[in-house]
This record gives sequence, C-alpha cells and structure tokens, in this order.
Amino acid sequence: MTTVFIISAPSGSGKSTLVNRLMAEVEGLTFSVSCTTRAPRGSEVPGQAYDFIDRSEFERRIAADEFLEHAEVFGNYYGTHSSALDKAKAAGKDLVLDIDVQGAAQLKKRIPDAVTIFILAPSREILEQRLRARSQDSDETIRRRLNDAMGEIRNYGQYDYVLVNENLEPAVESLKSIVRAERVRRVRVEEKIRPILATFGQE
Ligand code: 5GP
Repeated sequence: MTTVFIISAPSGSGKSTLVNRLMAEVEGLTFSVSCTTRAPRGSEVPGQAYDFIDRSEFERRIAADEFLEHAEVFGNYYGTHSSALDKAKAAGKDLVLDIDVQGAAQLKKRIPDAVTIFILAPSREILEQRLRARSQDSDETIRRRLNDAMGEIRNYGQYDYVLVNENLEPAVESLKSIVRAERVRRVRVEEKIRPILATFGQE
C-alpha cells in the first residue's frame, strides 16, 4: 500500500531542506518530480528538481487528463503527473509531494487517505530573511512571494499536520515521526495482522 504525503509551505519556510532530509533519512520514499512551465533556477537539474516543459505542452497534458492535480502558482503552471503515483505503487514505496495549497486540496479530494502536512516559518520577519538569504529571486518576486505566503498560511486548517520550522533538527524529527506513525496505522498493517492472528488460532 502506498501512502501519499503532501507537503505544502510558503516558499522560504525551509520546506526543501526538510523534504531533502526526510528523503535521505527515511527509507521507502519516492519524491514526486512535478512538471512546471517556470524556467530552471541556478543549480536546478531538469528531471530532478522539476520536469521543465513549455506552456503548450503543459496545456496538452491538462487536456489529455495526465495530471493528478495542477495549479497556477506565481504565473506558472505546476502539476503532478499521474505516472508519479503509478511508479511509486509499482515500486511499493510511499510518495512525497511538495505542492501548493490548491494542489493539496485537489489531491486530498481525489485521494482522501493522503496525509497532508503544512510547514510554517515562525514569523513573517523570519520568512522574509530566509527569502532574501537564498537570493534567488528579485525584490519584486520576494514581495510577491511574501504576499502570497499570507494567503497560503490562511489555508493551514485544511491540513492534517502543521509543523512550525523554528529549529531545523526538531522539525526534521517531527516530519520523520509523522511518516513513521502513518505507516503503522491499522489500515496499513492489516495484511500483516492476519497471519499473526492465525498463530493465536484466530481469524
Ligand atoms: P518553486 O517555483 O519555488 O519551486 O515552487 C513554487 C510553488 O509551487 C511551491 O509552493 C511548490 O510547492 C509549488 N509546486 C511545486 N510543484 C507543484 C505541483 O506539482 N503542483 C502544485 N499544485 N504546486 C506545486
């Protein structure tokens, strides 16, 4: 059984670092590489960070119903191709998605058992400092991202878990704990329980 973990956060919340640590430190996870129409930034490797495609190809994929969810964020399209879930299922892995609040809402409707996690910076000031420190974006983009962050944060109530990323290590531990706890839900271990019950002479 594949559990889908959806992680959302305004940019600058430290989400990428947390997600990278989760992927490196918990076994059995696959990261869903999204498709986007935005241009690659700095060191981003196509096919690793994103599948970078143009608008007309993205629109063709929407029309062909190839996305599990898609949304327009900061004027660009982003979407999760349905092959991401198919591949994770075939490999017997859990799937981790880093998607925005619109995509998370669409996916939760489609996959109600998906586990949703929202990551929050401890304050607006810290979010702004983090956005400036990574200096990947222009002033104009940073202003827009801060404004959008306010809108995104209002949606935290849609999520199953909310992590305040004040200090990296405790936040990483909490994220790993969520994944590990979700893996021992009864529905996840049902198949393992039957043979155990049989050893007690019970069905
Ligand atoms: P960035 O351009 O900074 O990589 O990402 C901008 C926003 O798009 C982030 O909030 C990120 O979570 C979101 N995003 C990335 N991939 C997807 C996707 O496949 N679907 C949706 N709905 N949002 C995505």
